[in-house]
Amino acid sequence: MCNVTPSGINHAWSDKEEASFSRELEMTNEETRCVIAGAGPGGAMLALLLARRGVPVTLLEMHKDFDREFRGDTVHPSTLEILDQLALAEKVHEIPHSKVYGPSFMTSKGLFQPFDLRRLKSKFPYILVVPQAKFLELLTREAAHYPEFRLKMGANVFDLIRENGTVCGVRYQTSETQGEMRALLTVGADGRHSRVRHLAAIEPVKTSPPMDVLWFKLPKLGGDKDAGSGLMGSFRGGRILVVLDRNDHWQVAFVFPKGQYQQVRATGLDAMKQAIVALEPSFAEHVQTLHDWQQLMLLSVESSRCPRWHQPGLLLIGDAAHVMSPVGGVGINYAIQDAVVAANLLAKPLLEGRVDEQHLSEVQRQREHPTRFMQGLQAMMQKRVLAPALASTQATIQVPWLIRFLVQVPILKDLPPRLIGFGLRRVRIDENALPR
Ligand SMILES: Cc1cc2nc3c(=O)[nH]c(=O)nc-3n(C[C@H](O)[C@H](O)[C@H](O)COP(=O)(O)OP(=O)(O)OC[C@H]3O[C@@H](n4cnc5c(N)ncnc54)[C@H](O)[C@@H]3O)c2cc1C
Repeated sequence: MCNVTPSGINHAWSDKEEASFSRELEMTNEETRCVIAGAGPGGAMLALLLARRGVPVTLLEMHKDFDREFRGDTVHPSTLEILDQLALAEKVHEIPHSKVYGPSFMTSKGLFQPFDLRRLKSKFPYILVVPQAKFLELLTREAAHYPEFRLKMGANVFDLIRENGTVCGVRYQTSETQGEMRALLTVGADGRHSRVRHLAAIEPVKTSPPMDVLWFKLPKLGGDKDAGSGLMGSFRGGRILVVLDRNDHWQVAFVFPKGQYQQVRATGLDAMKQAIVALEPSFAEHVQTLHDWQQLMLLSVESSRCPRWHQPGLLLIGDAAHVMSPVGGVGINYAIQDAVVAANLLAKPLLEGRVDEQHLSEVQRQREHPTRFMQGLQAMMQKRVLAPALASTQATIQVPWLIRFLVQVPILKDLPPRLIGFGLRRVRIDENALPR
């Protein structure tokens, strides 16, 4: 176990503990109970929840701000209920937002709506679309109300501190300095290209969904119709266009078969604009705002899961532990659910100064099954619906009769909104973490 002091915790110190604390301080520059690499949705939520429980926690984020283009912006009903538990639901709704109730696709048999979130028995039967930067600012601002919370922006984690086979913190670099942050628990919440995971030599098992995506924005022009339930999809000639209504603009995903990016680029920007208009004729004027490939960002779609999410002193959560396919847009939701489960299980052991591998493996046990289940569902949708659409030269897509049938059966109708809205099971914050 790592030797760190519970600074900021009301704890009666034995002489032995005091002595070992002094020895440690000579060797390190900073310490905390839990150090989290990465202030994305997973890391920021975990830091907030631990700080609320009185656990000293330091969040290290390599960027100097949260303002990055094209990160997921969808906050699902499950996350909204969690924010409600934290009395933050109203605040998140104060951020300029739009709402998505479900997707609609034009198919060979007319408009197909696979699910409608309005069927959910929830205070929040919709996906709230808010800029992720604002969402992260809200979480970290809230966390800053707790004296146990520290945030270091521009702090790039580049190494793990190990002692006797246990991870005891991280080494990080800012523009001015290098530092060591020792901790009883180190959490890698540093996303799909996780440095922490790499340093721990944990290899994710990757699957490669059949598509890649180009993301871009188009302006809203006078006379634009609204997107009905918030999300529209069109298919034609092996290309898919997904359009998300963002109040003041359209966020667009142009989906094409994996590995064809160079081919798509080689045809030139004008051909790209024509392909967009072929999929959505009402965008003929909008695409004239695309002047440069830099306005279109490539998301190489992948899906992966680590066989093991932990080592002594170390836990991976969110994309670092598992990258979700974009089908259903559940990546943020799953990272937040990991954080809630981790805080529920680890706050007490952290406060008591004793986190062992059993605690960490319980986090994986509770989260791995829902993750596997959702990845299986996504793989099925990719194989049965997206891959045939991407391989087709037809003008519209055919949805398999089984899927059409299943979403009409009254008893099954509620299942897709529940799975998209909440995942396999609802995750709630442990009551002990609520304000007292
Ligand atoms: C283009 C795109 C669009 C997406 N759209 C959606 C969507 O609509 N809905 C959805 O649910 N999901 C979407 N996703 C997926 C979603 O963004 C992720 O699943 C989610 O953000 C995972 O959260 P996380 O906290 O695990 O990691 P991340 O959000 O990736 O956060 C990781 C953080 O760690 C920081 N970091 C990385 N390395 C270090 C280091 N060495 N030291 C310190 N900090 C570090 C990063 O800067 C980042 O802030 C999208 C992803 C992409 C790429």
